Amino acid sequence: MSRVSKQTLTTEGRLAGKVALITGAARGQGAAAARRFVAEGARVLLADVADDAGKQLADELGAAAGYQHLDVGAEDEWELAVQRAVAEFGGLDVLVNNAGILHFSELASTSLADYERVLRVNQIGTFLGMRSVVEPMTAAGGGSIVNVSSVEGLAGMPFLVAYTASKFAIRGMTKVAALELGGRGIRVNSLHPGMIDTRMVQDAAGGAEVDLSRVGKKLALRRVGQPEEIAGLALFLASDESSYCTGGEFVADGGATATHALKI
Ligand code: NAD
Repeated sequence: MSRVSKQTLTTEGRLAGKVALITGAARGQGAAAARRFVAEGARVLLADVADDAGKQLADELGAAAGYQHLDVGAEDEWELAVQRAVAEFGGLDVLVNNAGILHFSELASTSLADYERVLRVNQIGTFLGMRSVVEPMTAAGGGSIVNVSSVEGLAGMPFLVAYTASKFAIRGMTKVAALELGGRGIRVNSLHPGMIDTRMVQDAAGGAEVDLSRVGKKLALRRVGQPEEIAGLALFLASDESSYCTGGEFVADGGATATHALKI
């Protein structure tokens, strides 16, 4: 990808002039955010381990996008990704820590290896991501970090012990980072999607088709969410429209957490 100078910044859009790094951007919610951010004038470095899909989407998005292989659990790979965003796009204003994996198993039979695998991506990935952008965002005079947690970062869910632990950790880390980084103009918020129509659940179910609509019907809005609906919230948190928001929890769950009443 060619180097884009500050002079060629798009001047239109809610993210005009901003540079964003989005992890897990090859598909699902990360891909939807990448599309939306570019449409709103940002230049976006898409990062993922799914290189073919990530490159394809970046190519489709044109000169405002690039693709970088980044395993979010690998410390050394973060440095490269951040350096590339700064070198090619002239800075880094937004980080969306979106990459995540799910693992279903009962607590009693969850292996340490599976527990650690989930924490490595979801929790350590978010920690490394936030730590990696402190310097460039400070140099840029501020920035916005959006940490994708889940409704499982607000309440427990059976068979998701590792995932729930990691998503609660993200919610907590977000607040620590918000408190430490506010003085540098860096805002940090957590985003809590409910059930969203992506391949994540199917992958965790070993590739089997899972009918999400059955769960969706129990929600206030009677349906599961679409990745684009989460991208809209990520856009708000990334943009200056959320300039007074930091350390906050932003829920988009179709009403899943609005009730404590169990439906029969
Ligand atoms: P998805 O499986 O479609 O996308 C996840 C992306 O992360 C994939 O492109 C995958 O290749 C990438 N990824 C996995 N491991 C990685 C690693 N080590 N380094 C970099 N990238 C990696 O799922 P999604 O629904 O788009 O999930 C996005 C985020 O939203 C995740 O953090 C997930 O936990 C969260 N979330 C999803 C739901 C849901 O119902 N789908 C609900 C709440 C929260």
